[in-house]
Amino acid sequence: MHKVSKATLALNGLGRCFITEKHVSAIRIFRRGLVFAKEGNDFCKNDVYDVIISGGGMVGAAMTCSLGMDPNLVGKKILLLEAGNKKVMDKVPDAYSTRVSSISLGSATLLSGIGAWEHVTKMRYKPYKKMQVWDACSDALITFDKENLQDEMAYIVENDIVVAALTKQLDSLSENVQVKYRSKVVKYTWPMPHHTAESIPWVQVTLTSGETFQTKLLIGADGPNSMVRQELGIPTVKWNYDQSAVVAVLHLSEPTENNVAWQRFLPTGPIAMLPLSDTESSLVWSTSHQLAEELLELDEESFVDAINSAFWNNENQSELIETAGSLFRSGLSAIMPSAGSPRQLPPSVAGIGPKTRVMFPLGMGHASEYIRHRVALIGDAAHRVHPLAGQGANLGFGDVVCLTHLLSQAAFNGKDLGAMQHLLQYETERQRHNLPMMAAIDLMKRLYSTNSAPVVLLRAFGLQATNMLPALKEQIMAFASK
Ligand SMILES: Cc1cc2nc3c(=O)[nH]c(=O)nc-3n(C[C@H](O)[C@H](O)[C@H](O)COP(=O)(O)OP(=O)(O)OC[C@H]3O[C@@H](n4cnc5c(N)ncnc54)[C@H](O)[C@@H]3O)c2cc1C
Repeated sequence: MHKVSKATLALNGLGRCFITEKHVSAIRIFRRGLVFAKEGNDFCKNDVYDVIISGGGMVGAAMTCSLGMDPNLVGKKILLLEAGNKKVMDKVPDAYSTRVSSISLGSATLLSGIGAWEHVTKMRYKPYKKMQVWDACSDALITFDKENLQDEMAYIVENDIVVAALTKQLDSLSENVQVKYRSKVVKYTWPMPHHTAESIPWVQVTLTSGETFQTKLLIGADGPNSMVRQELGIPTVKWNYDQSAVVAVLHLSEPTENNVAWQRFLPTGPIAMLPLSDTESSLVWSTSHQLAEELLELDEESFVDAINSAFWNNENQSELIETAGSLFRSGLSAIMPSAGSPRQLPPSVAGIGPKTRVMFPLGMGHASEYIRHRVALIGDAAHRVHPLAGQGANLGFGDVVCLTHLLSQAAFNGKDLGAMQHLLQYETERQRHNLPMMAAIDLMKRLYSTNSAPVVLLRAFGLQATNMLPALKEQIMAFASK
């Protein structure tokens, strides 16, 4: 079943993003557009929006700001519908939130361009300059950093702060965009691609309150369980990993500069410590469901011991692998004496923030189509990844940049925003970026989920060799920060 899913992912993904070029056949546009039967016919009573965004999490809110700020879209009617409450933050809480994201430089550039990054920096964020990843079974390591540690590599920001910053920015764009909170969409009615007497020309959304709206383009940003995706019947490859992530706020034993993100691959899953301040870090520990549940039950002292032991103990290493690894390292250093970065040790943990321990089941999902007639999916609604590479929200922000650009061009050229041509271009561009990233993340998850000696040796050699190749590391960093 698993194999089928993966093969389907490959075929669907490759089929769409590598075979589809600009010359999209009319047949394909027709087929993709021909989806839905009409329902209801009271659209004349309602206002028609140019764009409705369904879901105002980090990605949907960023999409709305981005459209609201685009000069070519001035005068367009744009509406964001979010099921939850408005998330304002008049004062940043003293305690850190458990849900944080590593925001790449590319995502920070987007947030800066739409005016939200300034709010983030006035609230709270932590840049980091280096990332060290190492294997608990071999001690092979790789470090990513900017030359001479001068530049920032990425930023750790609480999700609540990203959303609060975007909310503030949306408030300032109230002339360009309308936002409705506590507005859950409960029904979508889809148009026929070719207007008939009894069909509606636009997408119609119905809220819990019974209110309905029409839109020329619906953007589904409603998260991993996207109702938009499900209602459209878009084939989606997805599976649950055999892991849950335990997250918590960690108090460090002593203040440090704390500008390194740490991740150690244990056979049960990766454990990461992400900097929040000189004295606090955020834990993302992906492990078996059973161990995750046990970790949540531990008293604070035992939980802290378990974290320190997960970062420090060498119980998974064998003499054979250690010897082979150190021979390989010496060989590489002899060939490239100046390459590779020295090992650093992570800070030790002394305590955790009160009530900060939470766990999330982890899964992977990919919609084989990101678009349909008058609909586009963005963010987790289109793709969900394991948090080991800190890429989920960043991929979503990449969708925002791409879709805004194409819609802006379409508006400039006087085209219908919901037309298939530019939506197909969006799908092709984003699948070309997202699929290789998702495949790499899934492969990493699988590669590091075993302590079988040949695999450990292979990955140790691979990691050490990559660590010695600054140009390759630059390429990996550039790809991940897009
Ligand atoms: C433990 C963990 C660590 C992570 N770390 C990172 C990281 O370091 N870096 C990173 O880039 N990513 C990270 N991620 C991934 C990241 O959190 C997600 O990719 C991101 O939150 C997805 O944002 P989204 O806006 O697409 O979806 P969501 O955050 O799920 O938002 C969807 C929104 O839609 C609304 N909604 C849903 N249905 C409806 C409806 N019917 N009507 C109206 N509104 C609706 C919801 O209320 C919600 O606000 C991590 C994930 C996990 C689990």
